[in-house]
Amino acid sequence: MADLKYRSPRGTSDILPEDQPYWAFILETAVGLAEVYGYQRVDVPIFEFADLYIRGVGEATDIVQKEMYIFEDRGGDRMALRPEFTAGICRAYLQHGMSNRPLPVKLWTAGPVFRYDRPQRGRYRQFHQFNYEAIGELDPWLDAEVIDLAWRFYERLGLKDLTLELNSIGDGRCRPAYREALRAYYRPLVDRLCSDCKDRLERNPLRLLDCKQPTCWALSEAAPRSVDYLCDECREHFAGVQEWLGRYGVPYRLNHRLVRGLDYYTKTVFEVQPPRQGAQAALGGGGRYDGLIEELGGRPTPGIGFATGMERIILELKEQGISPPGRKLPVVFVAYTGEATRLATVGVVGRVRAAGFIGVHAFGSRSLKSQLRLADGLGAGYALILGEEEYRQGRVVFRDMATGSQEVVSLEEALSRIRRG
Ligand SMILES: [Zn+2]
Ligand SMILES: [Zn+2]
Repeated sequence: MADLKYRSPRGTSDILPEDQPYWAFILETAVGLAEVYGYQRVDVPIFEFADLYIRGVGEATDIVQKEMYIFEDRGGDRMALRPEFTAGICRAYLQHGMSNRPLPVKLWTAGPVFRYDRPQRGRYRQFHQFNYEAIGELDPWLDAEVIDLAWRFYERLGLKDLTLELNSIGDGRCRPAYREALRAYYRPLVDRLCSDCKDRLERNPLRLLDCKQPTCWALSEAAPRSVDYLCDECREHFAGVQEWLGRYGVPYRLNHRLVRGLDYYTKTVFEVQPPRQGAQAALGGGGRYDGLIEELGGRPTPGIGFATGMERIILELKEQGISPPGRKLPVVFVAYTGEATRLATVGVVGRVRAAGFIGVHAFGSRSLKSQLRLADGLGAGYALILGEEEYRQGRVVFRDMATGSQEVVSLEEALSRIRRG
């Protein structure tokens, strides 16, 4: 291990076969729910013109300032690896004239996103998100439906004791006054802020509220609350969201320090937190982005979305002792006992696979003992041993690997016994 010439880059990981069932479980659950809520799949490029994210996510955000993978391609264009999905999906919405479709347009996607962050538990430089977006509708009912979808998703995975946190951060009309109130509150305290927050105070004061440094966290408790600065429209909208959430029966907790790290959010923001807060970051979150599509050059178009981090969900599933449902196909090992049956193995393995089981065998030319050891190592439930004599009569030795019991039966009989389990 120590002297490997190449290792995966810091902040990336390999998803090994033994972890794949978690990924499949999460993806299938997320896709299944997306479909019954009327979402359709979209896929957008892993890289786009950097300007899309700078405009979309926001010049002043930490993501753009510090975390985006940005590079010039060989043609001299400035590109970026996607740090999130929403900006790319809104670009696709505009590019393909999706405003002509029935609204809201509901889209889901999944895949890797990239942020040059400090790697730690549940935080990677290449990580994976499942993402839902609903574009073209202002009704707070839609906010509640998206939040309901997010909540049911974690519920369906079997996760317990999660908290849904909710806030409204206003819009272009009311947020400037709120930002100013935050700056006014923090300016006299600036010496006690962490260096990141000193930096953010003028360009992005909302982010001071969710800084986890102990002194910043303590100071943010008494900071002005966005809900006290909402204009009439934002206040009514937020009341509407809470009313609809009540109808959906989704429990939530108001958190005035919840702001999310992206500039495009307006009005509703929400996050789903694991039981032990602080231990790791949110499992997922989202919010409304009513100004984003206009920012990207389209007509004013409201939208709301939700993204959840796959790696964090896997950590939490393991933490809570939840295993993905097993649905393993039986592994059937076909063993030969001499040259003639070794050649016949190809046909028998073919029959096993055609029957829908995992058909495996040894390569090379190995003793029966060595083959059965391999069968054990591969987790075979059954072995079909081809004895010269039996095989000529169309029969095989059917071995139950768990008990070691053996019986000579026809190949058809062996396959039907495996099917019965
Ligand atoms: Zn801070
Ligand atoms: Zn407002």
